[in-house]
Amino acid sequence: MRTLLLSLVLSVTSLALTPFTADPPLRGFFAQSVQAERDLEARLKAMPDPARMRAAMQRLSARPHHVGSPYDKQNAEWILSEFKSYGWDAHIENFDVLFPTPVERLVELVAPTQFKASLQETALPADPTSNQQAEQLPSYNAYSVDGDVTGPLVFVNYGVPADYEELEQRGVSVKGAIVIAKYGGSWRGIKPKVAAEHGAIGCLIYSDPRDDGYAGGDVFPNGPMRPAQGVQRGSVADMPVYPGDPLTPGVGATKSAKRLSVAQAATITKIPVLPISYGDAQPLLAALSGPLAPPSWRGSLAITYRLGAGPARVHLRVKSDWSLKTLYDVIARLPGTTEADQWVIRGNHHDAWVNGAQDPISGLVAELEEARALGALYKQGWRPKRTIIYAAWDGEEPGLLGSTEWVETHADELKAHAVAYLNSDTNERGYLGIDGSHSLEKFMNGVAMDVEDPESGVSSWKRIQARRILSGSPEARKDARNREDLRIGALGSGSDYSPFLDHLGVASVNIGYGGEDDGGIYHSIYDDFYWFTHFSDSAFVYEKALAQVGGISVLRLANADLLPFGFSNLAETIETYIKDLQSLRDRRAEQIADRNRALDEGVYKFTSDPRDPVTAPQRLQPAPQLNFAPLLNALDSLKGAASRYERAYATAVSAGRSSTAKAADERLIQAERALTSTEGLKNRPWYVHMLYAPGFYTGYGVKTIPGVREAIEQGQWQDADREIARAAAVIEREATLVSGVASALGGA
Ligand SMILES: [Zn+2]
Repeated sequence: MRTLLLSLVLSVTSLALTPFTADPPLRGFFAQSVQAERDLEARLKAMPDPARMRAAMQRLSARPHHVGSPYDKQNAEWILSEFKSYGWDAHIENFDVLFPTPVERLVELVAPTQFKASLQETALPADPTSNQQAEQLPSYNAYSVDGDVTGPLVFVNYGVPADYEELEQRGVSVKGAIVIAKYGGSWRGIKPKVAAEHGAIGCLIYSDPRDDGYAGGDVFPNGPMRPAQGVQRGSVADMPVYPGDPLTPGVGATKSAKRLSVAQAATITKIPVLPISYGDAQPLLAALSGPLAPPSWRGSLAITYRLGAGPARVHLRVKSDWSLKTLYDVIARLPGTTEADQWVIRGNHHDAWVNGAQDPISGLVAELEEARALGALYKQGWRPKRTIIYAAWDGEEPGLLGSTEWVETHADELKAHAVAYLNSDTNERGYLGIDGSHSLEKFMNGVAMDVEDPESGVSSWKRIQARRILSGSPEARKDARNREDLRIGALGSGSDYSPFLDHLGVASVNIGYGGEDDGGIYHSIYDDFYWFTHFSDSAFVYEKALAQVGGISVLRLANADLLPFGFSNLAETIETYIKDLQSLRDRRAEQIADRNRALDEGVYKFTSDPRDPVTAPQRLQPAPQLNFAPLLNALDSLKGAASRYERAYATAVSAGRSSTAKAADERLIQAERALTSTEGLKNRPWYVHMLYAPGFYTGYGVKTIPGVREAIEQGQWQDADREIARAAAVIEREATLVSGVASALGGA
């Protein structure tokens, strides 16, 4: 009663302050709970402290802290003690995973001239942590198979499938060759995979200065861009097949887990691969002859870009230590009260390739400040309805190891209890990025409206809207102006949300600010405290904003009277995916017909320049018509169910009955699970979500309704109708679930 009186007083005060606007509704809260929640959020928002985050970043990035390193373990122990000091019940959970580290690395040009690549990032006097060579992992690509190969060199642009079609038309084969690909255009692991599929025996990946070097600004330490000796490390495991420990697919890498042998692990590359700097790449590329590279392939080096093959011959040797290493996941918990068996989960990784101030510490320090703020509220007497779990993952960089192994170990509990997973990774100045499950789109729009953007002073929501109006596509501009909610993107892969969303069907969201800071230090020794405090969010105000977004999201999910999921935006988004698939099929059909016709007409033959000949592409199987009716019918069901749910939701919230809400919540947490299929995607059963998956040939990039989309893109027409039926089945199941919850809530 006292609380009620107090909140009445407070709401009168806030009305007085903003005389003409009532408190906007808060998704998931009964009218009588809104004010108490807003008061709590105001207290939480005031707590994240830029000075503390700066100090935490300096401490956590002081030394290299990759998987298996002493400082990785020390950081985990420090994070553990922080969580405990904030009042959380915390522990470290260990896993033993395959994590190869380099033993031998060699790249040399053996003909027509000789050159040995340095494979060394140099220490810079201005940058105090760049000289920690004894602890730095040398530049390499983790999960490259061991190998010692020599062959002619071929330049393959970004090394994606379309690039090989182009090479074939120019009569350039990579069979028996070592390819050199630029970073970018796809996730890096796709490059050796596609090269091996085309018969290459080795793969080099370099960062062209056009993409993140001097073409974009001054190079480090004078500016943020990649210097000539800077190298991007990174995993090349075939993550679109499954992420996590290559030896324990689908199960947790605990001490007693049954393990594959290294030779049996499907995700290790088929050919050796090594990343190099543009300093090291230039002499190799300059030694190529053969056809000129197409204009769009050329970079910013002062050379003539040619394709090869040869006469440059390259010798590549890679050998790793394939021992198991121990992961240290830090897991912290604040217990819930009335709905303790519903878990709200938040995570960011703590491991880095080297010092990793930006990736991942810029996100982690915000997460820690949220935890401190939530812990302070807890000490002051607040109790969340639902249990809150905060995680600091190890082993994200090599392949989402820490999150995947934890998710696989606790899969049954998570399927029963997980409400949602909220992830962050790197953070910079700029615009709030939100990607994730569309059942949370409306909810996350509400959060973005309530966090101020530190540079403009308007809400983070308003700032994203402004940018979309200014520079979006015509469609995006219209949406930004007229649609009630800003659209959020779908999640592919590339950070720790993937096991939650893709493997279990836990509704997930990734958050992070960005878009104003240029940089070319990704996964190099120069991603460190010096770089971050000179060229990124040096005032740590966007770290504070991220902590506010994360903290408020968690607080709302944990306290809500009725879980804040909504399904109208989901249905509407699925509709855009279906339309997109239909036009993709039609475009493909037209392209195929056009190419086959051009072949019949002999246009390739007649236009080929004898001095720079281009051969005709292969004839393609014409595209059949597809039957989209099952998807469209399922969509109709979901739209109907979603609007019934919105009516029921409005009734339930105004009636404010906790008993019906509690029953609804238990079913609502299964709503994302309903979108999964137990058999999973074709040839990659680890991925079970039928709406979102990383692309088999793009890696990080998302494929929406992936079964159907990839069947069309890859011309596997025989699969397309079956995939349409499978996707339709989960959407029908979602409609049934949503409709059932609407009835239970007492809606019409
Ligand atoms: Zn990261």
